[in-house]
Amino acid sequence: MASPSSPRLSASQLKTLAGLGEERTADAGDVLYRIGDPSYPFIAVLEGAVAINDEAGNEIARHGPSGFLGELNLLSGQTVFVTAVAAEPVRYIAVERDTLRELLFDDGPLSELLLSTFIARREVLQRVHGLGIEIFGPHSSEATMRILDFARSNRLPFTWRDPGSPQDPAAAEIVAGLDAASLPLVRLPGGTELKAPSTGQVSRALGIGRVLEPREEVDLAVIGAGPAGLGAAVYGASEGLDTLVIDSTALGGQAGSSRRIENYLGFPAGITGNELTGRAVTQARKFNARLASPYRALSLEPGHGRHVVRLEDDHEIAARAVLLATGAQYRRLPVEGLANYEGMSVFYAAGPPESQACGASRVGVVGGGNSAGQAAVWLARGGALVTLLHRRADLRETMSDYLVRELDRYGVAVRDRSEIAELHGDGGQLEAVTLKTGDRVPFSFLFLFLGAAPCTEWLGDVVARDEHGFVLTGAAAGAEYILETSLPGVFAAGDVRSGSTKRCATAVGEGAMAVQLVHHRLAATLKLGREVALTGDVRQHGAQ
Ligand SMILES: Cc1cc2nc3c(=O)[nH]c(=O)nc-3n(C[C@H](O)[C@H](O)[C@H](O)COP(=O)(O)OP(=O)(O)OC[C@H]3O[C@@H](n4cnc5c(N)ncnc54)[C@H](O)[C@@H]3O)c2cc1C
Repeated sequence: MASPSSPRLSASQLKTLAGLGEERTADAGDVLYRIGDPSYPFIAVLEGAVAINDEAGNEIARHGPSGFLGELNLLSGQTVFVTAVAAEPVRYIAVERDTLRELLFDDGPLSELLLSTFIARREVLQRVHGLGIEIFGPHSSEATMRILDFARSNRLPFTWRDPGSPQDPAAAEIVAGLDAASLPLVRLPGGTELKAPSTGQVSRALGIGRVLEPREEVDLAVIGAGPAGLGAAVYGASEGLDTLVIDSTALGGQAGSSRRIENYLGFPAGITGNELTGRAVTQARKFNARLASPYRALSLEPGHGRHVVRLEDDHEIAARAVLLATGAQYRRLPVEGLANYEGMSVFYAAGPPESQACGASRVGVVGGGNSAGQAAVWLARGGALVTLLHRRADLRETMSDYLVRELDRYGVAVRDRSEIAELHGDGGQLEAVTLKTGDRVPFSFLFLFLGAAPCTEWLGDVVARDEHGFVLTGAAAGAEYILETSLPGVFAAGDVRSGSTKRCATAVGEGAMAVQLVHHRLAATLKLGREVALTGDVRQHGAQ
């Protein structure tokens, strides 16, 4: 079977790789790497062919001469999700992961080819049923829903096996002896099982992400790894600040879930949020920024010289400056029983697994903003019958013109002045909604894009916030610098900041600008420290 993402390396690229790697051979049937392996080298095929198989031995892809193996886990260090077997005698070049990483920094065209291919392959893997981690647990289990959310946001290939589902009687047998507190059961590629793990435990068992020391001391702690946090990471680390970025969910933030960002400067054909943020993460790592996820910030304690950010699992970061870049989270629909459907037939993002599940179904997308428009177009292109519901009289009041035209082009029906009053369905499966007008509309799936509330509860009253909870900065906070909060040395950038424009480019720009202001603040603190020391000296000498 041909891979949907099997581009070829040029002769000169193969030559470069040969100079850095090792030429090897394998006989037909030899396994080059298998599911559950912690890592594998980058492999460029010179002669012969390699098959990529799932756990059951089904062939997902095949790579021939000048083709190459690998997907995102080659860069992220995640456990291997597929098995690579020589389909015929093969001669290939193997390049170790760290060497490849360095080459990618130096070789733009190769980096471009590999990164876009790896990202495309991950999207393909996400659509292959039965691949990646298996999550056993019922819809009623909050812990199960949390792990599912984690898998979705990290774009991990996963299968959810609900023990209550009549379509999967084996799932009930597998969890039969376990009490509710041991759920979900998470089975990793390779067979290791974790009972009721935290997202951090799953993440580290898969080999993703850095493990933090109980106390980290850094120049700049960035809380949140969306575009604002990643922008700050790139500029902070490249300008000599020891920079640590943490995120409670996934590197990439909200932007990572965007199907296509059309308005980001420099990408006239648009770029998926996944690709944009994936590249930003690689770029931040290139400059030695440290990125750690999932770690949730629980509180911020002001200090002299260093502020302390306390994290889940008894970790803390003591930082000379802190950047708040925690963005905002989707609002939920104020209707009864919503939680019964969330994760099964009501979603807050439309990725490849959701699009596949929704093909040829009636789907409602709720919201009048660009994110709702993008999701509606993406789902309609995947074969769903999509209706977009929004509150205002004219969609153009809230959505970009180009998206309104796309909705029309892909046959999305638009219902103005529509609000949902009630959901109908059974066992988490939506069947219909009733609108406030009393109309009943059949939908099997609902996607909600209702705007966002800031992720700032954890800050308490340590920094000043506006009436909606967004962080005040600059003059509004009585601060010296425009992105500084009411607490000197603590800055805010991106969607979390009161009055910011809620866009990727703005978030990136603010993240970058915050770093300049951090430099000013640190220099001012140092100068003040010297003056205080000097004054102390003068006083001491005066007293003698
Ligand atoms: C579906 C969709 C489509 C979009 N399309 C576009 C578009 O086409 N063009 C455009 O310009 N913009 C678009 N946007 C908006 C854009 O994504 C946001 O403006 C941008 O992501 C804001 O970046 P940010 O870094 O401020 O916050 P976010 O991207 O929200 O990142 C914040 C991060 O902080 C983390 N976090 C939250 N609380 C904590 C905590 N306590 N501890 C640790 N981490 C925490 C979160 O997990 C998250 O990863 C879209 C948004 C969505 C959802």
